[in-house]
Amino acid sequence: FKSKLPAVGTTIFSQMSQLATEQQAINLSQGFPDFPASPKLVSALAQYSAQGLNQYAPMPGIAPLREQIAALIQRCYRRSVCAQQEVTVTSGATEALFVAISAIVSPGDEVIIFDPAYDSYAPAIALNGGKAVHIALTAPDYRVNWLQVADAVTARTKLIIVNSPHNPSGMVFSQQDWLALQQLVLAHNLFCISDEVYEHMVFDGAAQLSANGFSELAARSFIVSSFGKTFHVTGWKLGYCVAPPALTVEFRKIHQYVTFASFTPAQYAIADMLAQQRQQVSGLAAFYQQKRDSFAMLLANSRFNLLPCQGTYFQLADYSAISELDDVSFCRWLATEHKVAAIPLSVFYQTPPQSRIIRFCFAKQHDTLQAAAEALCQI
Ligand code: PMP
Ligand code: GLN
Repeated sequence: FKSKLPAVGTTIFSQMSQLATEQQAINLSQGFPDFPASPKLVSALAQYSAQGLNQYAPMPGIAPLREQIAALIQRCYRRSVCAQQEVTVTSGATEALFVAISAIVSPGDEVIIFDPAYDSYAPAIALNGGKAVHIALTAPDYRVNWLQVADAVTARTKLIIVNSPHNPSGMVFSQQDWLALQQLVLAHNLFCISDEVYEHMVFDGAAQLSANGFSELAARSFIVSSFGKTFHVTGWKLGYCVAPPALTVEFRKIHQYVTFASFTPAQYAIADMLAQQRQQVSGLAAFYQQKRDSFAMLLANSRFNLLPCQGTYFQLADYSAISELDDVSFCRWLATEHKVAAIPLSVFYQTPPQSRIIRFCFAKQHDTLQAAAEALCQI
């Protein structure tokens, strides 16, 4: 038997969460909140199920949710999208990314991705016979050099995948980044997948920008987001993809055979939430900025050197003042000896740079962050 993904093992997120459980370590590795979702959202889910809404949803998602997604995009980015023809509800952003990549990539196509890259992109490209062309972003600011990207484009380049706010670095695209991306996509007739799952977590008053706000880019893009991040329910696996009608037709051809439709009661519950609690989404940035700042304050006396974080719920930390271990070994040591689990950065690179940097998730209750920081300050 010949594996189609010979280099792929178990994801680092599963590995580190398992190690955290085994070691009874505080888990700041895999990205998920340790506090409850809104009680209103949770009871809406139960109510819709009790009402009997337990059968297949329509393949593209229930109409009220697609309409709320279109309204959200209008509110945030002043773009009108057609809920019927341009919005598809998916089983998490992971499914949307896989389907969008499958819709675009044929054998031999090149796809530009930026390392450190979210771990699901490269396997999806490989399964479709494509070739991932990795461009490395580096500490401390992880910004894209668009001239370098232009140099990486060849006649085979079909797609570019961007992720802003960026997991794991917390880098956020500026207006200039989006304009440079748009120019590149148009100049070379590329397609774009814009992974915007952390779109509502942009800090320090910076503008919340999206591919939705750049019309010529949006005309060639699959824009992906996730309610798991926005409403603190990563386990519900509910997300969506926005793409122009012709691209949505191709997207749905695949979505309908990957999963057909997503979890029905959750779609109704999230639609209600979007209709009633608009401030919840707009308040998310302030909520996580406060967590970023208090985590940083708690670590002020540690020997970790924190890198800039403009968005997401991740904080990078340089540990070179503490240890010479490589980052995977350091994370194992940290979880085992100091009972705090984190994610090593090198696993997100094809060619890891010589740096000693790990990622902490700060989507945690204050007590969790405090207990973790206490342990980290003793190292
Ligand atoms: N993209 C990025 C950058 C992510 O961090 C995540 C969440 N881990 C996803 C996609 C997947 O989102 P979901 O859990 O909705 O599938
Ligand atoms: N997106 C989450 C993270 O970056 C993990 C998702 C997963 O476990 N696949 O930590």
